[in-house]
Amino acid sequence: MAELKDVKGVGPRALTLLNKININTVDDLVTHYPFRYEILRRDNLQEVGDGEKIIIDGKVESVPMLMRFKAGLNKMNFRFATPSGLVGVSIFNRAFLKNQLGVGSGITVIGKLDKKKNIITASDIKIGTLTDKAKIEPVYHCTSGLTNKNLSNYINMALLYYGKDIDDNIPMEYQEKYNFLNKKTALNVIHNPSTMEKLKEVTIRLKYEELFEFMFKINYLKEQNKKKNNGLSREINKEDVMKFTKNIPFTLTNDQLKAIDEILDDLVAPHRMNRLLQGDVGSGKTVVSFMAMYANYLSGYQSALMAPTEILATQHYLNLVEFFKKTKIKIELLTGSTTKKVKNEIYDKLSKGEIDIVVGTHALIQDDVTYSNLGLVITDEQHRFGVNQRANLQNKGIKPDILYMSATPIPRTYALTIYGDMDVSNIKERPKGRQKIDTYVKRNDEIKYVLEMMYEELKAKHQIYVIAPLIEEGENSGDLKTVNELKDRMKEAFGSHYTIDIVHGKMANGAKDTIMEKFKNNDVNILISTTVVEVGVDVPNATMMVIFDADRFGLSTLHQLRGRVGRGVSKSKCVLISDSDAERLKIMEHEDDGFVISEEDFKLRGHGDLFGTKQSGDMAFKIASVRNDYKILLQAKKDSREYLINKENNADPLKIRLLNTINKAS
Ligand code: ADP
Ligand code: MG
Repeated sequence: MAELKDVKGVGPRALTLLNKININTVDDLVTHYPFRYEILRRDNLQEVGDGEKIIIDGKVESVPMLMRFKAGLNKMNFRFATPSGLVGVSIFNRAFLKNQLGVGSGITVIGKLDKKKNIITASDIKIGTLTDKAKIEPVYHCTSGLTNKNLSNYINMALLYYGKDIDDNIPMEYQEKYNFLNKKTALNVIHNPSTMEKLKEVTIRLKYEELFEFMFKINYLKEQNKKKNNGLSREINKEDVMKFTKNIPFTLTNDQLKAIDEILDDLVAPHRMNRLLQGDVGSGKTVVSFMAMYANYLSGYQSALMAPTEILATQHYLNLVEFFKKTKIKIELLTGSTTKKVKNEIYDKLSKGEIDIVVGTHALIQDDVTYSNLGLVITDEQHRFGVNQRANLQNKGIKPDILYMSATPIPRTYALTIYGDMDVSNIKERPKGRQKIDTYVKRNDEIKYVLEMMYEELKAKHQIYVIAPLIEEGENSGDLKTVNELKDRMKEAFGSHYTIDIVHGKMANGAKDTIMEKFKNNDVNILISTTVVEVGVDVPNATMMVIFDADRFGLSTLHQLRGRVGRGVSKSKCVLISDSDAERLKIMEHEDDGFVISEEDFKLRGHGDLFGTKQSGDMAFKIASVRNDYKILLQAKKDSREYLINKENNADPLKIRLLNTINKAS
């Protein structure tokens, strides 16, 4: 296959610019799909605005006047008669067309209309009228110095010379079954569509191909994981493990027990555990993970627990120490702010097997951490870790069992894709005594009423979270509330009697922890914060949350935030303040099942809000969208599995290539 620099027209400067927008190969180039199309209507001159594009038929009205400039450049001007009136046309570097532009010739002019001068600056002229076809122009993501036209030219050059070398990843039998065009033709159409129908047809074909490749991989990984005895296998006496539950101050729910049982089965089985533990905030995932670590310890292995934030890692650490206080299990905490000296001591002990459980942030998966016998890795709120980080951990030469915990239940559709190769344990049942959080959507002009509600809570000696989307006013902050602004407002309202403090992501870790600690100890009454409190933090005396500019957040995020309250015995409240988007927000008033909420979110906003940007990057399809193309996804899933398990096509070059790509990557 040719390299990008071989493509006609791509010089060193263009190469740099292409690389800048992540186009590094010919394949990247030809699959740099238009993100939209501009449909140039053949229009009435009067209806087209100044500076707007136009495509219009008519007749040449005057002999074109040709001017030649230095460096071989030229320009032609002529008058052009259209059904909606006369207009001037000027076009550069088309001297060769002069003979075809005799007075009275029918032509189509494509260009931009200057209304004041009544001139179309044409980008193209077609001889003969096109009558009924509108021109569809692809619009690409560009970068400064690299125009839409440049990209279109490079892409078409690449297709012309190398189009037949581009991998076609749909097996023949499916191409035939669905009457798909071949890859080269499909790419030609998507970059140069003649009609909307054709465009639609090839779009489906290219989406199917992308999803077929993806699902083939997922299906393969799942098969492999089941087949291969590629994990640790160990003896675990379930009864011994479960005896420990006597030390837990509450009765485990049935869902918790079932999840523990599934995990223990995985630990024993010779294949590697790759399990997702899903459950709403507060559903009690933590204790399940602790039991998994206990079983892992009994079978003689080390555990690592990773959390997305330092606050959360610290909380887990303290809970673990408490949970295992009657045992000899050695537990350490390792985070970004652990001093170098302590860090090195911990590394040393980990490599010697002198630590049984280590808790930390991403520091745990840095290259310089070696384990003596890591048997289990647990990541909490795992959607915040990118796939690369997960891979990094898996590639340390050891194959520990892996458990992911997520409080944002993944809608079925996504579960199929990102988590398609995982087993899933769901905790749907809530611990006894949990109360529903009363949720209200209010407008900004109802703030007085909200302040009164807050005052009632404060009088009852309860604490309150106030959430703002921003820390401080910035360039694009517009009317959005900021932590600093709300601090002033809250001080004005309650400052004489109550303590108010702030916490946000830009604060140093130490400072953040100090404030969270103060809030936990009830030394702060109102905590104003950005979404840093979203995950995990447990303060049972906090019974109210007020979220400003709630429309800025996805429902799943709001649900996560809301899960910070309602953790104690008292009835809790959550107020969502927003002047817009009330209909969507009102879903929160009556719905408290995270699974349902995440489906709603998904329907309304796509996956954008469910995962961090990193995560979306991991599954960034070039043309398919999991949400909109779910039907194609399901078909591709079925077909790719059929293709994978069919042994008769094992010598098929396409199958060999698909398998090679997967094995190279993992
Ligand atoms: P999450 O699933 O959000 O991680 P946690 O594991 O932090 O939830 O549990 C939330 C709270 O509920 C904790 O204080 C925990 O001790 C408590 N809890 C967990 N399981 C039960 C149970 N079966 N009965 C009563 N309380 C429980
Ligand atoms: Mg948790």
